[in-house]
Amino acid sequence: MSATSSELETQVLVVNRHLQAVHIASARRAFVLMWTDIARALDASWVARDFEAWSRLEPEEGAATVGTSRGAMRIPLVLQLTAYDRMPRSSIRLTRRNIFLRDGHTCQYCGRRSSPRDLNLDHVMPRSRGGPMSWENVVCSCRVCNLRKGGRTPAEANMRLLRKPVRPRWAPILTLAFTPGRPKEWEPFLSNLQGAREFSALWAEADAAMAQEQRVQESA
Ligand SMILES: [Zn+2]
Repeated sequence: MSATSSELETQVLVVNRHLQAVHIASARRAFVLMWTDIARALDASWVARDFEAWSRLEPEEGAATVGTSRGAMRIPLVLQLTAYDRMPRSSIRLTRRNIFLRDGHTCQYCGRRSSPRDLNLDHVMPRSRGGPMSWENVVCSCRVCNLRKGGRTPAEANMRLLRKPVRPRWAPILTLAFTPGRPKEWEPFLSNLQGAREFSALWAEADAAMAQEQRVQESA
């Protein structure tokens, strides 16, 4: 099999037997899973095909492929696990990106929405006083509010949180699968997950904030 390394890094969505998204794999890994029959590729009609059957399919125009001894083989968009009912990862990673998404890219003190570049992470109970990095203690804030609050609690700084920060209830795979260039073929497997509707709305807001920033930069 020959391909450039970037093609082999193409992201493939892995779903379980109940058609729930559970994982993202590289194309390289996807072919290994198919070759060992741990997973099969789903075609456009959601028919599962094993490595042999898949390699006989004529690649569609414009589809990403890898070269094999028998010609071009299409990189699948979605794989289905054959037996192993792997369940989704149980926790969402606490990252800057995910906190910004939870808070809708909105400063949790003044309510101003900004692009990620202009936002900070604020420890509600300051780090200097033992405040942990946790879903319940870290919020999105603008630079002005962050500076104003300094090393104080919101009460001491006479500032109020818009809402109490909590751990999001989205299926963790959503935070991995939502990338700007994700294939539209993934949508049916993502829209049935817990919190999908809320997450996709937050993602759309973030996208809009980014687009706005782009326009501001272009017009400057
Ligand atoms: Zn603010």
